[in-house]
Amino acid sequence: MTISLHDFIRGLPKAELHLHIEGSLEPELMFALAQRNGVTLPYASVEEVRAAYAFSDLQSFLDLYYAGAAVLQSEQDFFDLTWAYVQRAVADNVRHVELFFDPQTHTVRGVSMTTVFSGIARALRQARQAHGLTSGMILCFLRHLSEDEAIATLEEALLLREQYADLWTGVGLDSGEVGNPPEKFSRVYARARELVFHVVAHAGEEGPPAYVWGALDGLQVERIDHGVRSEEDSTLMQRLVHSQMPLTVCPLSNLKLCVVKDLRQHNLARMLRAGVCVTINSDDPAYFGGYMNANFIASAEALQLTREELVQLARNSFSAAFATPEQKQQWLAEVQAYQDTH
Ligand SMILES: [Zn+2]
Repeated sequence: MTISLHDFIRGLPKAELHLHIEGSLEPELMFALAQRNGVTLPYASVEEVRAAYAFSDLQSFLDLYYAGAAVLQSEQDFFDLTWAYVQRAVADNVRHVELFFDPQTHTVRGVSMTTVFSGIARALRQARQAHGLTSGMILCFLRHLSEDEAIATLEEALLLREQYADLWTGVGLDSGEVGNPPEKFSRVYARARELVFHVVAHAGEEGPPAYVWGALDGLQVERIDHGVRSEEDSTLMQRLVHSQMPLTVCPLSNLKLCVVKDLRQHNLARMLRAGVCVTINSDDPAYFGGYMNANFIASAEALQLTREELVQLARNSFSAAFATPEQKQQWLAEVQAYQDTH
């Protein structure tokens, strides 16, 4: 018997490579943490927060995102936030996650680097024990701030490197893209590469294809986060296909932030069919209307993705993960076994 498309997606093993942990803060938890910490939110109710989710662009989202992050103060808050995400990921049969976190959003408010690392890491280690969910942490620099501030953040975090060596695998670049090209951060990326961290960067979401070139050549990234505007540059597309550079695409995020007007116009399927190593991810799921399976289902329906293509997307997610070749082989074999039996 053939199972439904939804069930096929639910059971498909997958990896999530583009998830901002602060962006998984659901309004209910936002209110609970505000109460726990005596923080006054600029919203009267959960409903009011949800109503504020009608974004017009990346900046309108970031304004709400930073307001929400203010409720995160203690180690337990970061644990609760991450643990809530873990439950959602496990329910969607996510087998591996590499999550982004933004220490600068917290240290500027007087929350220590240790508090941030410790709460997230405790939840991820517990997830490994309890659910077999493997994970990595990617420290992101806020690109609207200066490179010197990014360097200071990296140096401060390095004091914790040994303690979190099992989790902290890379650095990334997020926040407002336009006007903040990747090259602005070439020194801190050179330093990160020298320290043998994996490097990724957001590029080509709202910014032009030139920013993707900048991330590839200026920062020497191993994955491009978003990258959907690469399609506007055919030479760049050839390079992405030839190098099999992974793109961590976030369909519902692109829809919610008006990068595309209609999911049926999204270029995920076109890029996949052109041979680009694209993956599906949830970005900031609490704000953008869905976790991994919601992104898979919406994309499959809007773009008429075949089961073969869904399997390819799952395969890409494991191939693009920062993991040992043995671990990747094991995941790919699981995907193959799933395909063979469904
Ligand atoms: Zn993102």
